[in-house]
Amino acid sequence: MLDNLEKFCNLKRDIAEINIDPLQRAGILTPEARAALLEWGDGYSVCDFCAGRLDLIKTPPIEEFVHGVLPEFLGTDEVRVTHGAREGKFAAMHALCEKGDFVVMDGNAHYTTVLAAERAGLKIEYASSSKEPDYAISAEGYIQAIERAYEQKGNVSLAVLTYPDGNYGNLPDARAIADAAHDYSVPLLLNGAYAIGRMPVNARDLGADIIVGSGHKSMAASGPVGVLGATEEYAKAIFRLSSTKKNKEVELLGCTVRGAPLLTLMASFPAVVERVRHWPEEVEKARWFSAEMEKLGMSQQGERPHNHDLMFFLAENLYQISLTAKKGRYFLYRDLKERGICGIKPGLTRQFKLSTYGLAREELEKVLQAFGEIIESHRPA
Ligand SMILES: *Cc1c(COP(=O)(O)O)cnc(C)c1O
Repeated sequence: MLDNLEKFCNLKRDIAEINIDPLQRAGILTPEARAALLEWGDGYSVCDFCAGRLDLIKTPPIEEFVHGVLPEFLGTDEVRVTHGAREGKFAAMHALCEKGDFVVMDGNAHYTTVLAAERAGLKIEYASSSKEPDYAISAEGYIQAIERAYEQKGNVSLAVLTYPDGNYGNLPDARAIADAAHDYSVPLLLNGAYAIGRMPVNARDLGADIIVGSGHKSMAASGPVGVLGATEEYAKAIFRLSSTKKNKEVELLGCTVRGAPLLTLMASFPAVVERVRHWPEEVEKARWFSAEMEKLGMSQQGERPHNHDLMFFLAENLYQISLTAKKGRYFLYRDLKERGICGIKPGLTRQFKLSTYGLAREELEKVLQAFGEIIESHRPA
């Protein structure tokens, strides 16, 4: 095995001109971040002038970024950089909850919220979503979930809201859910993996006590990198110092992102702040795109009108084509790729997610035209 390794040396990526993968749309680097990736690519590159605390490094200006800029951006008291949204959720759960406690989360929660809870030894009660096609999450659902945990003599130490969820792109009423949780003295963690860096999100305004974001998902960073914010009240526990290792924060295992991913997050940040201001245009574009897709016979699930660029479609017409098409259910991936479009998982036809984030109208016109042509070209003669 070890004498045939050349194939690892010059790996190329096969992606089309227009990528509509929701996972990737808002993680595309700015030119500045791409330059930072090269400049800071060496291992431990940020540690040249470190005095023991990653978040206090002055050169490069990590301290100003983490303690000055990010708290204002997120609307929270304290922020640290993590390896991603999931690591932030786990750190918060591990710090704030006792093994055997309940965490309450929405029925649309991301699998990483479930795994973070499992790793922290927590039980889960779900605030269930309404049925298809909207899959809505309500404060009432949280109240019922907390009550169910109490019926089991459980201690509810955290509520998590996915904002928006990664399936339908629904944005529930976070403020109402925070208020409901607070009525039970339960803090709310807002999972903004698909929000922070795309749209305006202010933890304070939404009533969130803890907030996590994903740099590689929504902040134009290479990652793995994320942000974890908390109010003073909860930051004390989450960012507590080691009892034996001076100045090291236990939940972060001392230092988190020790190189290039953090520098890409910083380098793209001015552009991220700017693009967040244009969020209403993104929503308008998504709504227009959704309406055009429906004209082609597909059906958008989740909130309508939609409030986010991530959208879930049912496409019975494409599924019917897949039953007889050459290559079967892979026809859609192939036909889109031939037209310069990627980002829908190979093999999916009947339902899929996509994102319009950061794409120009002309690019989205091309996507719509491609869907139209594909449907037309497979029409039985
Ligand atoms: C992508 C995603 C995550 C995971 O983000 P990481 O930064 O990779 O940990 C968590 N929650 C939601 C809702 C997501 O969409």
